[in-house]
Amino acid sequence: MKSAVPRALRNARRIFPRASSTRSSSLSSLPRLGNNRLSGTTTLTSQHRNFSATTGLRDIDEDKDRKWSTPLAKQLAAAIELTGPIPLASFMRMCLTSDIGGYYTGAIEKDRDQFGLKGDFVTSPEISQVFGELIGVWFLTEWLAQGRQSRGVELIEVGPGRGTLMDDVLRTIQSFPAMANSIDAIYMVEASPELRMAQKNLLCGEDAPMTESKVGYHSVCKYNALPIVWTETIKSIPTAPQKMPFIVAHEFFDALPIHAFELVSIPASKSEAPSSTDNSSPSSKTTTPTLQWREMLVSPTPPGSTHESLKTPATQSRETPPPDFQLTRATSSTRHSLYLPESSPRFRALKSTVGPGALLEVCPDASLYASDFAARIGGSPQHPKPKPSGAALILDYGPGDGTIPTNSLRGIRKHRRVSPFAEPGLTDLSVDVDFAGIAESATKASEGVEVHGPVAQGDFLELMGIRERAEVLAKRAVKEEKGRAVEKAWRRLVDRGPGGMGKVYQALAILPENGGRRRPVGFGGDVVQ
Ligand code: SAH
Repeated sequence: MKSAVPRALRNARRIFPRASSTRSSSLSSLPRLGNNRLSGTTTLTSQHRNFSATTGLRDIDEDKDRKWSTPLAKQLAAAIELTGPIPLASFMRMCLTSDIGGYYTGAIEKDRDQFGLKGDFVTSPEISQVFGELIGVWFLTEWLAQGRQSRGVELIEVGPGRGTLMDDVLRTIQSFPAMANSIDAIYMVEASPELRMAQKNLLCGEDAPMTESKVGYHSVCKYNALPIVWTETIKSIPTAPQKMPFIVAHEFFDALPIHAFELVSIPASKSEAPSSTDNSSPSSKTTTPTLQWREMLVSPTPPGSTHESLKTPATQSRETPPPDFQLTRATSSTRHSLYLPESSPRFRALKSTVGPGALLEVCPDASLYASDFAARIGGSPQHPKPKPSGAALILDYGPGDGTIPTNSLRGIRKHRRVSPFAEPGLTDLSVDVDFAGIAESATKASEGVEVHGPVAQGDFLELMGIRERAEVLAKRAVKEEKGRAVEKAWRRLVDRGPGGMGKVYQALAILPENGGRRRPVGFGGDVVQ
């Protein structure tokens, strides 16, 4: 008999050990996406000024005494003075994970972290423990469906934040000893030393030692004394054909740097000759205009700029100092504009379907991570795997209908939308995730995988039984107020309205290839035991 609640979960409800809380302190704070997604994005094209990739250094020379809003801003400006305007991806990477004051790597004050009421944003695992529990159950359903391998299971999380999601996943799996005993190791991919320590404290205890090796940092988990390894990239995690990796990425892909492009029409007389410097050569004289991609680059704002002069959109709070940087459109091709927009048939089609003015965001790191997940699950020519196994679950926000994200860069500070170019390093940056691009990269990287979804987070969680699990928790709550908070928290995760997280967040699964015969739970399939 089919049931919307996985049988595993129905059993699990009886034995989940902790029926404590909603994380109610976060309830009034905003998700990373903010509550006004459509009107709050930075309009790349409305703000940019034309800028040559090789000039534009005037501002810095003229303004040696300029006060930059953060040490990172000063360093970025110095770098741009040397190299010229930089790709948006380089700017994002520096702002998020640079050693000197990146958002995740040390810029924010010691007594404050990125998450929760006192931080900048709140995420689903921080809102309700049920979120992580259901992801644990999802892994369990895959482990059951794939033949209950008795060893070689690995849990891998990329971008684990405070470690809350992994803690909820592990606590849940503990209730199913056969699966718990099949786990060999836990891997956490984390760029931030502070968050790595927070995760270690939560998952291993404050007193547990952490040791360093060539691979990364090691400690021992409070659940089953499992080894945990922290690495800075997924590439550092060893691969082996007999391993069954269960991978989760929650609000990780939206923090990966993007390149942004705009399609422009170049009049016939100005068309670039492919490799000629001699404009009079016959090869440069074409008779029809050509379409070429131009990369959006980051350069300093003019000295003395104000929010008014820069026209900071009304949807972005002006409580920050005026942005130090702005987007500029390169006047000629750059290395990236020549190959990234050609890297997928979806991107190439924009020349004919949209034409001049088309916008495009490309995230090469997202392709690398998706390809890596797929190769671990399904094998690849470099790392063949006789029997594909494992699963990856990617939860994030972005279009669920295959549209390519555009104009999606956001700055977030203390639960408000701000300019992404204000206070570099103190401002969180995020973008919409190209789920169709992730699916394409995964299936291209491995013949041994198939992709399901994306489906709306609300649908995924409801099919996984969030309502039933939350009801049990609410009933167990001693205080009525607590019960109400549990209710409010889970409803927020599935709410399809503009302030909710049920529709704009999506879930996508990468599974071993099975000819589409078995759909995973939460994506329309039922539990297979
Ligand atoms: N998954 C968590 C945290 C999301 S915030 C949650 O839902 O609560 C993004 C996380 O990814 C943080 O832990 C951040 O430090 C990490 N991160 C961001 N960019 C990264 C990168 N390039 N490599 C590794 N980790 C990164």
